[in-house]
Amino acid sequence: MSECIFCKIANGEIPSKTLYEDELFRVILDLNPATRGHALILPKAHAASLYDLPDETAEAVLVLAKRMAQIMSDRLCCDGLNLIQNNGEAAGQTVSHFHLHMIPRYVNDGQTLGWVPGEATQEELEEIRREMTE
Ligand code: 5GP
Ligand code: ZN
Repeated sequence: MSECIFCKIANGEIPSKTLYEDELFRVILDLNPATRGHALILPKAHAASLYDLPDETAEAVLVLAKRMAQIMSDRLCCDGLNLIQNNGEAAGQTVSHFHLHMIPRYVNDGQTLGWVPGEATQEELEEIRREMTE
């Protein structure tokens, strides 16, 4: 993926504020952080989204997120942490190279992440459960 910006960043062709690097991943600071310390975990091998991620990488990414979470807690003294991972334009994905957002949260940080809770009847939930499992 010669034109993929996250391929270039992950593989060191474009410099970034790197927090961690190993054979599979590079963890960088987001250029437009939602909060102080907002980081992105990038696999070095191109995968457009979660759908394309090899199982080995999918398994490893959460182990790495856990390690980075501890560092964020210890060093940034954040009060909480959001993990966000967007897949597809409809979900807000703007860079088509899998990335996991790690967003440290601070009491009264003024950030608004989340969704508007909806409503569903038991019948609707059951219909969805059937659609997804039967
Ligand atoms: P998405 O909306 O695709 O889930 O998130 C893309 C993220 O990548 C955004 O938070 C954006 O700020 C960040 N980003 C886009 N281009 C660059 C870049 O060149 N360098 C860094 N460090 N972050 C980037
Ligand atoms: Zn890529």
